[in-house]
Amino acid sequence: MAPAIAVVGRPMVIWDFDRTIMEDDSDRWVVTEMDLTHLFNQLRQTLPWNTLMDRMMEELHSQGTTIEDITNCLNRVELDPQIISAVRSAHTHGCDLKVLSDANHFFIETILKNHGIYDCFSDIITNPSFVDEQGRLRISPYHGSAHGCDLCPPNLCKGFVLNRIQDLTCEDIKKRVMIYIGDGGGDFCPTLKLSEEDHVMPRKDFPLHRLISKSSTPIKPKVHEWTNGKELNKILIPLIDLVSPTDG
Ligand SMILES: [Mg+2]
Ligand SMILES: [Zn+2]
Repeated sequence: MAPAIAVVGRPMVIWDFDRTIMEDDSDRWVVTEMDLTHLFNQLRQTLPWNTLMDRMMEELHSQGTTIEDITNCLNRVELDPQIISAVRSAHTHGCDLKVLSDANHFFIETILKNHGIYDCFSDIITNPSFVDEQGRLRISPYHGSAHGCDLCPPNLCKGFVLNRIQDLTCEDIKKRVMIYIGDGGGDFCPTLKLSEEDHVMPRKDFPLHRLISKSSTPIKPKVHEWTNGKELNKILIPLIDLVSPTDG
């Protein structure tokens, strides 16, 4: 018989970003606000999403749009106060919070900093970005080479990242409970990597929720649906208390 798993420490909470922390999609927000919808739709069929966003940033740069303009655009994104409260509470409860997102580092960092919750997260795992010497924002894929997972887009397999986090945080029969919060199809692969002690919080009636509902592969973590920030907050904080060992 396999030895019982000992749960140690406060849970780790892994957050998707678009349509989870942010109500909208950050890429779409910038494309719409910067009037790039036409070009975006024109190129959508020919370029992978990640490359397309890098191309959009090239377009902005060629039009004379500066990094400050992009920052100002991102600073107009509003976050649900209930989501902000949930992030702060989870952090105060001693949880390790990470963002795992298929957006990009610049957008996420800017938005989280603007709302004063950037420091609540120990890590932002996403497609890297940097400002080149011409002052153009560059967005690259997370994976430099093929990851071999057919559930995920070529630039990022969130399940691969989740496995890596598990390797770093779990030793032998001791493990830290994971709570995974997300909405999208890209959140299904990491959901399949979670174990019986873990929890997944899919946004109700969004792709992840539908994939979990009709999955032929058994879903091991406990499933808690939410529809909005208020519900997310109401579920997450008691759940953290419930799964935290009393000694630590
Ligand atoms: Mg999402
Ligand atoms: Zn994958």
